[in-house]
Amino acid sequence: MTSLERCQAAIRHQIPDRVPVDLHNFLVTLHYAGLPMAPALQDGDLLAEAQLKFWRDFGQDMLLVENGVVAQACGCGVEYFDDGPPQVAEHVLAGGLEGIGRLEVPDSFTTPPMDQVLKAVRLLSRELGDRVFIVGRADQGPGALAMALRGYERFVLDLATFEKPELIHQLLDFCVRVQVRYALPLREAGAHGTATGGLGVSLLSPDLYRRVEQPYERRFIQTVSCPDFAAALHICGDATPILGEMVATGAPILELDCKTDLRRAKETLRGKATLLGPVNPELLWLASEPQEVEDAAHEALGILAPGGGLILGPGCALGYNTPPDNIRTMVETAWKYGAYHPDGRLKHQP
Ligand SMILES: [Zn+2]
Repeated sequence: MTSLERCQAAIRHQIPDRVPVDLHNFLVTLHYAGLPMAPALQDGDLLAEAQLKFWRDFGQDMLLVENGVVAQACGCGVEYFDDGPPQVAEHVLAGGLEGIGRLEVPDSFTTPPMDQVLKAVRLLSRELGDRVFIVGRADQGPGALAMALRGYERFVLDLATFEKPELIHQLLDFCVRVQVRYALPLREAGAHGTATGGLGVSLLSPDLYRRVEQPYERRFIQTVSCPDFAAALHICGDATPILGEMVATGAPILELDCKTDLRRAKETLRGKATLLGPVNPELLWLASEPQEVEDAAHEALGILAPGGGLILGPGCALGYNTPPDNIRTMVETAWKYGAYHPDGRLKHQP
């Protein structure tokens, strides 16, 4: 099986030859390639070059391609750093929710940084698109993008008081349209799938998630996802209380991290969605012995791999200076212990 076929089998609820591996590594690739992150994150050629180098050295099955800050394309000021992810420094809706009426959905073909991510996906697709699964990530999700446009505290307050429900919904509607207008060109550029990063229950109450965030995530997924273009829903933190609602978005892939109850997740997702994750990125960053990484990845395989439905990887983005040896250990653990019998049992039960 090629990596592409292996990922597609996992997403389509078939049994691949072994568990596929992804790496949430857009920052690490640049650091590993020795590129200064601030300019490289804004340059499609460098984003692609770094992904390619990393793939040649690590051989993961799925590439996650992104730059981290869609909000820039919507008029926010963004600061780039050489030692961390970019951050929104000026929020375009800081003056009030009313400003939403003046915002226009950006053209992703011509607006930085979307145009550069499109370029990177195009280049990677030309090199690897026939054998490796490429995810062009239309991050951030509706609530996360709204928060970036408005400013974190201000949006939390908007939601807590809910004094202007129409404007809140208008803003979330705008964010979905931004994402759709990004995701469909990513598909055209050669991506086999996309992703949206939702706001989870570390920031919203489960009730607020159900009422305000989930319907917009669902709309994004329902608009862009299809059998040939799988959309993933990424939610950080403990997603256990909202697993049912996440599945109900129709997302064929749910990206979950290690704080979620993995046994509950396995039961809830069975036959409905493929889990991508859940290895703790902090462990990958901090582990001084590769054995710690192998043990964590092996344990996750034991819970999540039987019967299919797993793409093994970090549960969230890796820190830019995550030790390459730890990443290699995670990939090799899937090679070592992730092989399947045709009936979906693992050949090496933990
Ligand atoms: Zn995350």
